[in-house]
Amino acid sequence: MPKAPRGTFDILPQEHVYWKYVEDKANSLCRLYGYQSLSTPIFEDAQLFIKTIAGGTDIIDKEMYIFADKSGQELALRAEGTAPVCRAYIEHGLFNLPQPVKLYYIGPAFRYERPQAGRYRQHHQFGFEALGEADPALDAEVIEMARQFFDSLGLSRLSIHLNSIGCKLCRPAYLEVLKQHYASYIDHLCPDCKARLIRNPLRLLDCKKTSCQEIAKTAPKITDYLCPECQLHFQSVQKYLGAMNIPFHLNPRLVRGLDYYTRTVFEIEPREKGGQSTLGGGGRYDDLIESLGGKPTPAVGFAAGLERIILNLKKQKIDIPSLPKPDAFIAYTGEEAKIEAVKIASELRKAGIAVILATGDKSLKGQMRQANSLGIAYALILGEQELSKRSAMLRDMRSGEQKTIPLSEIAKILKPR
Ligand code: AMP
Repeated sequence: MPKAPRGTFDILPQEHVYWKYVEDKANSLCRLYGYQSLSTPIFEDAQLFIKTIAGGTDIIDKEMYIFADKSGQELALRAEGTAPVCRAYIEHGLFNLPQPVKLYYIGPAFRYERPQAGRYRQHHQFGFEALGEADPALDAEVIEMARQFFDSLGLSRLSIHLNSIGCKLCRPAYLEVLKQHYASYIDHLCPDCKARLIRNPLRLLDCKKTSCQEIAKTAPKITDYLCPECQLHFQSVQKYLGAMNIPFHLNPRLVRGLDYYTRTVFEIEPREKGGQSTLGGGGRYDDLIESLGGKPTPAVGFAAGLERIILNLKKQKIDIPSLPKPDAFIAYTGEEAKIEAVKIASELRKAGIAVILATGDKSLKGQMRQANSLGIAYALILGEQELSKRSAMLRDMRSGEQKTIPLSEIAKILKPR
């Protein structure tokens, strides 16, 4: 019996109330900040991710779903949302529009990770990206927008961690001193970090192993090595955040799991830390579009994981509005009444009234039980007696109150409810 693959899950109807809640908040947020929706394919040329996320990161080295299609082209399931947005920006000449171009997406991402609570092989991300602008006010706005998103969801007790990881001019000098620091602890490093020391030293700061984290604590801080331009940019981001009253923690060891970031990086996590706690993160990626063959284009963005948000909504016991129920259930007794019921159901739906029509050969009692279990407020009962008078019985399922109404008035009576 085939089952959902490990690290994936079905989202059952009772769970969709959470998904709709989060997606509605995401859509309203984007409207508020002037972001437009963009959908990209679930799979892309594998090089899109390999080039941008870069080797030495877990995503590229261990977690990509890469496969050859029947023509032999190497494709990859979408591992994250930013690189596809940048590809689309170049491919469709969006750089010709007034800048910045503000885009958002909601969709699945795939990473071959060890499944655990809050970590899956298919997860869903809501992300937004502002392309074509270097202004630090935009970095601050993206951070504020991320916070506003969590606020609108009702999630509290979250912290914003902020850092700058400099640019291609100032970072190399920092990486040299970082390598020197770690080289003196080489025997204490985990095997992954030994490889990172050679391939991608910035990632050393991101290791989750306790022994490596101890070494990170005394590592030189990147913020002490920023060039004057990056320093000024970082100070400005903090100044604008201050103007908006957004509290944040400076964290000089924050680097993020993807390699294309420049300058601003930030993450948002619950104050009570757990294993897979980061709800979302983002930052600036001024070189990414150029690395894909576009013109040099500064950009900044953010992405959050929907599964982790929903876990936190449940943990914080946030009240979620329930999904609307159908307006009425249509029950009947006998074939003649059934024909009338089919006709009425069709007419009501055309009038925008949501109805469930009883089917099969359940007794009237069975049909009422079904209406009850669906939580529908009203049942319309068609019996031979009512039909002979061109009328039906309307039953309030909560109070049990019933009254006879003319068939011609049904739509009018149900609509105002
Ligand atoms: P990233 O693209 O790595 O910056 O991830 C953005 C957000 O997606 C993270 O902050 C998480 O909330 C979520 N996320 C990333 N990987 C996973 C995963 N394997 N399972 C569930 N959520 C994830």
